[in-house]
Amino acid sequence: MANPYYESALTERAGVEQPMQVNPNFKRRKKAELTVDDYVKGILDGDRTILSRAITMIESENPAHIAIAQTIIERCLPHSGNSLRIGITGVPGVGKSTFIESFGGMLTAQGHKLAVLAIDPSSERTKGSILGDKTRMETLSVDPNAFIRPSPSGSALGGVARKTRESIILCEAAGFDIIIVETVGVGQSETVVKSMVDFFLLLMLAGAGDELQGIKRGIMEMADALVINKADGDNLPKAKGAASQYRAALKLFPKSDNGWDVPVEVCSAREGFALDKVWQIIQDFVTLTKGNGSFERTRNEQLINIFYHWIEYTLHNRFYNNESTQTKIEALLPLIQSKQISPYAAAAQLTETR
Ligand code: GDP
Repeated sequence: MANPYYESALTERAGVEQPMQVNPNFKRRKKAELTVDDYVKGILDGDRTILSRAITMIESENPAHIAIAQTIIERCLPHSGNSLRIGITGVPGVGKSTFIESFGGMLTAQGHKLAVLAIDPSSERTKGSILGDKTRMETLSVDPNAFIRPSPSGSALGGVARKTRESIILCEAAGFDIIIVETVGVGQSETVVKSMVDFFLLLMLAGAGDELQGIKRGIMEMADALVINKADGDNLPKAKGAASQYRAALKLFPKSDNGWDVPVEVCSAREGFALDKVWQIIQDFVTLTKGNGSFERTRNEQLINIFYHWIEYTLHNRFYNNESTQTKIEALLPLIQSKQISPYAAAAQLTETR
């Protein structure tokens, strides 16, 4: 008799054939390639789909795309510059996206066209970079007068900044008159955002006591206004208290040479409280700095900065993208490690022969 343990209780049946999960006739349709003329015309017509696709070209690392993107930018440049560029920073959780959602909504309701860009060098898009999360800014993201673009991916701040700077040009050419550039207040990215905006807003929270601990002094010095967010409910008196402490602290900072006194305000992004005050501050800043010439001067300095950045970027690429350079570098690395050649001499050997 057969051992019952070896007999399976399962019997195999012929079964039925599974229907196809995918329609075999379905072909993924490739997006039609656009010419540079198509891109430029679409952007100048304010076509957001084309604007988005052009920004994707800017963000691409593919040399062919970079060349197309550069031509698009060159052609859009004469139509750019007519916006007010506002940088917004603050630690995660301070309420940046809530603020941009309500502040931006207020601006679009007034008839402005708002583009929101972001700089977040630390995270890749897939890991939910700032503005990457679709649940943020729900109203603004469906507002026909708003255009929201998440941070370009990439770990090098220089690259991310370049892409955002170029996206600003395209957004302006597409008719957006207010550009908000958001960044997380945790590192170097503030300096970079400051270098591409007209007005830099620092959002803060009322801390328990030691207000000045949370945020680096350097970032406070860069700000054109400090706004304590979450000034609602029980938090309102605390926020007001924090505001007077910051006002006192700012008095110790050197006065900026554009003649602007950095104001400290409280607001509630969630309740929409005092957002109009923040907007008034920004408008006052623009009136003052346009009147005394510092608005234009700052923009000109920014252009010079772009010039130097581009030289560095181009030289860097030209140097490293050369195959023989790569081979030489690889040959030199073990020599440096085994101390047969100093890093200085090795670098000199590579750079002087080119
Ligand atoms: P972000 O990380 O700086 O973009 O901050 P979020 O906008 O995501 O906000 C972080 C949290 O703070 C969320 O739970 C918001 O609902 C809350 N928040 C934002 N603004 C306010 C505000 O003005 N008042 C209060 N009470 N909560 C707020």
